[in-house]
Parts: sequence; C-alpha cells; structure tokens
Amino acid sequence: MPRTILYIEDNPLNMRLVRKILVDMGYKTLEAPDGQTGLMIIINELPDLILVDVNLPDIDGLQVARLSKANPLTARIPIVALTANAMHGDRERCMDAGCDGYIAKPVAKLELRNVLNHFLAPSPALNAVAK
Ligand code: MN
Repeated sequence: MPRTILYIEDNPLNMRLVRKILVDMGYKTLEAPDGQTGLMIIINELPDLILVDVNLPDIDGLQVARLSKANPLTARIPIVALTANAMHGDRERCMDAGCDGYIAKPVAKLELRNVLNHFLAPSPALNAVAK
C-alpha cells in the first residue's frame, strides 16, 4: 500500500509542482483547496502525512494544524507547513501551532524529499525501483 499524503493548497501551480514530486516518490496524493475541506479529508482518510499551505482562503494552515493536533484520532499524523514570504518567526509560529515541520516556499524538490523521508520511510514502490 502506498503511503498517502494530503496537500492542502489553494495555489494550482504549487499544487501541480508538489503533486509531481509526491507521485514521483511513489506516494498516493490527496488534495484540498482550503482548510475546511482539508480537515474533512484528514478525518475521513487519515493520511500518513499532511502538507499544509499557511495562507488559505478560509481558515489558515496553522488553524488546520491546531485542530488536527487537538483531535486524538488525527493528532499523531505529521503536519508540515509550507509558507510563502518566509519571515523571521515563521518557523516558531508553525511549531507553536503543532506543526512537526516547516518548508519555506518556493518549495525546493530536495528539501521536500528530505522532509518526507524524515517522517516517512521510503515507499515500497520506490524501493522496488532502487533494487
Ligand atoms: Mn495559499
């Protein structure tokens, strides 16, 4: 079974970029364009990891993280925040909200891969290719 990663992102270009990286790594992807949809998918699908854009059209990504971490059913799912306009203190704000990791946009492929490998073992599909 491939691991499933939910990406909550309102920008179609970022969605497409990150989707390609995730699929190339052998992950199954779930996508949500806003925070409320993301929270619904988190509860219904229990993804293995959540990537969340901080700036979303409804509730922001930090609120998504707080709510997911407050629910015992979903609290252990790792959450990595993605934020544009990286400013001093961003990382701390993300961690205070319960995020497990933080990536500044624009998303660098190598950094994303390293973060995913940190939280998730390489997927079986990728191992098969490597052998
Ligand atoms: Mn956004």
